[in-house]
Amino acid sequence: MKIICIGRNYVEHIKELSNEVPSAPVFFMKPDTALLQKTQPFFLPGFSKDIHHEIELVLRINRVGKNIPEEFAYRYFDEITVGIDFTARDVQQYQKEKGLPWEPAKAFDGSAPVGEFIKLSELKNPDSINFHLEINGKTVQEGSSDLMIHSFAKIISYVSKFVTIKKGDLIFTGTPKGVGAVKTDDELIGFLEGNQLLRVRVK
Ligand code: MG
Repeated sequence: MKIICIGRNYVEHIKELSNEVPSAPVFFMKPDTALLQKTQPFFLPGFSKDIHHEIELVLRINRVGKNIPEEFAYRYFDEITVGIDFTARDVQQYQKEKGLPWEPAKAFDGSAPVGEFIKLSELKNPDSINFHLEINGKTVQEGSSDLMIHSFAKIISYVSKFVTIKKGDLIFTGTPKGVGAVKTDDELIGFLEGNQLLRVRVK
């Protein structure tokens, strides 16, 4: 499986990092070794002094597809959860300034904790999915899928022009504003429509 991540998909988050609003989705990948399994702690890596949380809605792909038209994209996923796109912001800043790829900042081991999946059909309003992240009991990020610049369908259609998507692949769909650093002993809890689906302890 592979993990495909969308960057810069919420206007307010683009502003907080002083980036430009992209006309097409920005995507990058994390390897399967980035996946943090349930109950595993997240160990702060030694190469960064500024690891940020980015809570995101995560789709699980349920069939193989290539060049998927936007109007059929909904057939390729039926489960959703929240995940965290852990980012070494100091490393990313360096890579951005040098025009280098983001992988050292984004693709490291354990950088993709993923919550428990729920069926989209169980959601009351699949077009407006609310989610938020709490750290040590305090809400630090809140978002809703209707604030995304590029919809789930647009993302799947666009990415599948370049990369064949397969059953079990995960798509992180971008983070809303409020990203910030995590530290040892933080407890991160991710919610989707008020349901607690993800819990990560930072070590
Ligand atoms: Mg992200």
